[in-house]
Amino acid sequence: MKLYYDFHIHSCLSPCGDDDNTPNNIVNMALIKGLNAIALSDHNTGKNCPATIAAGKRNGLVVLPAMELTTSEDIHILCLFERYEQLQKLEEYIQGRKLKIKNRPEVFGRQRILNEYDEQIGEEEDLLIVSSGVSVEEAAALVKGYGGIAVPAHIEKQSNGLIGILGAFDAGLGFEMVESAADTGVNLPRLVNSDAHYLWDISEAEHALEAESCSAHGVFSALKKMCGRRP
Ligand SMILES: [Zn+2]
Ligand SMILES: [Zn+2]
Repeated sequence: MKLYYDFHIHSCLSPCGDDDNTPNNIVNMALIKGLNAIALSDHNTGKNCPATIAAGKRNGLVVLPAMELTTSEDIHILCLFERYEQLQKLEEYIQGRKLKIKNRPEVFGRQRILNEYDEQIGEEEDLLIVSSGVSVEEAAALVKGYGGIAVPAHIEKQSNGLIGILGAFDAGLGFEMVESAADTGVNLPRLVNSDAHYLWDISEAEHALEAESCSAHGVFSALKKMCGRRP
């Protein structure tokens, strides 16, 4: 079946994510846009994924747990998973490596952790948009080791994009897929996502993948197949 997706969306836990980007608002906006599957990808954390996955389940939207990892070179890597426990292992790993700088909400914005009813259950105190301490050379294998797929995000952008920062795409880095708005000539499967920090930026039903079922397993299997892995 054809499933419309947007696998790069930030919640109010990202300092740059709008406060209205709550789990339920994201899910409802994705459904209004006609999407079947999304991923919640906050900077260096997955702590709003359980609430968004639960809100998605209640409303019939597939939500993949994800994280937008900042490498030590300041390159953004979208890390997609099938199950939250896999993402949690990555988060635990970077917890011991990432720079510890306190967030200044008045400068960077608040970093709110919500439950599945959009009630605040916590606030992340360490600034999330800092280096995870993971290098771009380690990222693909590290994420794959936890069962995920590492996708260099917005690779064409000068700020935080792999090509923008390294100057060229190196196939030896081991990535199996890339994210970019337009074709950059990289010979890998390509995702087109919104990188939405505001609700209205979430993608329209324009980009689709072919999956066996409309479930996290079905969607993730389709992504693995695109990467040439066994489903
Ligand atoms: Zn980014
Ligand atoms: Zn992003």
